[in-house]
Amino acid sequence: MGSRTGYEHRYSFSTDDELIPFYNTTPFEYLDKPLLKQQFKGFAFEIRTRFLLKTILDDDVIIDTEKFVSGVPITVADCRDWLESDITYRLSEYWMLKDEISSLAHEAFDFAERNAVDNPKYASLDINPIVVGIDVVTVQLEGETVNDARGRVISPGCMIRLDMCPMVGLLRPFRPPWLNEVDIWKGLIMFVLHLPVVRVRVENADRLGLMDECPICLRGPTIGARLSPLPCKHFFHNHCVVQWLLLEKSKKSCPVCRYEIVV
Ligand SMILES: [Zn+2]
Ligand SMILES: [Zn+2]
Repeated sequence: MGSRTGYEHRYSFSTDDELIPFYNTTPFEYLDKPLLKQQFKGFAFEIRTRFLLKTILDDDVIIDTEKFVSGVPITVADCRDWLESDITYRLSEYWMLKDEISSLAHEAFDFAERNAVDNPKYASLDINPIVVGIDVVTVQLEGETVNDARGRVISPGCMIRLDMCPMVGLLRPFRPPWLNEVDIWKGLIMFVLHLPVVRVRVENADRLGLMDECPICLRGPTIGARLSPLPCKHFFHNHCVVQWLLLEKSKKSCPVCRYEIVV
């Protein structure tokens, strides 16, 4: 807790029988082509996240939600680790710590395996849908105004667009139509995955001195914000600079000094 004052996470696993026909009849455009050629057998983990604000005086308020899917084939040798590597990038944006992400992924996989054995409805399915509910709670601190707490809520607005989020598993990461060269795209994704990230914490919010405001969105860093430097040492919100690099045509350079990103 001490390492991320003002935030809490909760998660749970469940099944929703209404998802069975969806995941077993819908064509999966997001599956890699080689896998489409063979029958897909595995788990579809539907991640349903709620972003909440917990204030001192009022009930918790849901600020936003998001949903994404991680498909895990049980036919590959490293399937137990697949889910973890697929969702780590996004869950790091939720400020979940590495160990927590690892536990969540392995508990989810255990739940799915048990369910496939114990639950007759799921035993013969090709694709077992499992619901992973995650609550990302921003907690108002002593002496902090509700407005300030609201200003640092983790929600989709301060993260990379979900369709651009680099996932290394089955979900195909967004690729801009202008970027046909797969090698450049892969290089960009690797660059983005390895960008250093500094998380603004309570104790160093004033002393970081890394940036007064983000040159892309023109907003200052709040507690909980993730900041990243480009090699030229200019700092940005991580989600702002990643989207800049992945989305903007021919702008594979620093928005401030035009330093070129070579991938
Ligand atoms: Zn920004
Ligand atoms: Zn620069």
